[in-house]
Amino acid sequence: MDRPGFIIEPSESQSTGLTLTQLLPSLVNAAKTLARPPISNFRVAAVGLSSSGRIFIGVNLEFPGLPLHHSVHAEQFLLTNLSLNNETNLHSFAVSAAPCGHCRQFLQELRGAPEIQILITSEPDPKFTPLSHFLPHRFSPHDLLPPRAPLLLEYHHNGLTLLRENGFCNNGHALREKSKSKLAAALEAANKSHAPYSDSPSGVALVDSGGKLYRGSYVESAAFNPSLGPVQAALVAFVAGGGGEYEEIVEAVLVEKDGTVVKQEQTAKLLLNSIAPNCQFETFLCHSQQSRKD
Ligand SMILES: [Zn+2]
Repeated sequence: MDRPGFIIEPSESQSTGLTLTQLLPSLVNAAKTLARPPISNFRVAAVGLSSSGRIFIGVNLEFPGLPLHHSVHAEQFLLTNLSLNNETNLHSFAVSAAPCGHCRQFLQELRGAPEIQILITSEPDPKFTPLSHFLPHRFSPHDLLPPRAPLLLEYHHNGLTLLRENGFCNNGHALREKSKSKLAAALEAANKSHAPYSDSPSGVALVDSGGKLYRGSYVESAAFNPSLGPVQAALVAFVAGGGGEYEEIVEAVLVEKDGTVVKQEQTAKLLLNSIAPNCQFETFLCHSQQSRKD
C-alpha cells in the first residue's frame, strides 16, 4: 500500500499476508504523507486497530493564523475517525512518535484505556506496550463521572431537538430547503457529542464546493484542555473523506445546546474564518428533551 486511505477493511489487511501486529507499524510511514502540518512540518501518523477488526488512520492537522491549541493531534484524529465510522473501541495502534501527554490523557476517554496497546515506530526496538505504561497515574473520566456513564465511542444520544422545531432558525429566518440536510447532519453530530463534563454538546456540518457534507461531534476530555472542538472534528471528516483545500468549504452549520456553560459559536467562527474565509456560517440552538419543563 503506497498511500493508504483512512480506513482499511479486514479483507484488504488479509491480502497483505502480514499479521495485524506487523501491518499496523508497516503502514505508519505511508500514512504520514496524509498529515497537514504546515507550521511544524512534523508529520505524525497513528494507525489503529478497532475492536471490529478494521484499521483506521489518524494524522496531525495544523492551522496557520490561529493559536496552536486549535491543532488536531494524530491520536485525536484517529479516535474521531473511529467515532465517525461507528466503532465502539480501539484495541491498539502504531504511531510514528511518542504520544504527547495531551494525547495520553485524551485516550483516557475510552473504556479500558489502560489496556490499549501502543507501538512507537521511531523507537530502536519497537513493541506493543499498554497505555498504562505511558500514563501510570491517570486522571480518568471516572474521577468525575458515575461508572456507568457512556464514554467516548460508546452509544450517545443527547436527546437534543432544535429550539424552534418549525423550521426557523434562531434569528427568525425561514429555513431554506437545502439547509435542512446540513442542519440534520449537525444535529445528529450534536446528539453523538461526548460532553459529559459540561453538559454542552455540539456538532458541526461542513459543505464543500462540490456539495459534499462532512460532520463532526464535539469531544470533551476529563482534563478539559485536550478536548476537541466540533469544527476540528468535522475537519477530520473533511480530510478523511477526501476533502481538498480548506478554502473549498463553503457552508458550515453549528448546532449547540442553549444556555450551556461551554459555547462553541465564536471559536468555530474564528477557526472557519481563518481557514475558509468564504464559508457561510450559521448557528442553531437546541435543547435537551430530558431537561425540558414544558
Ligand atoms: Zn498528541
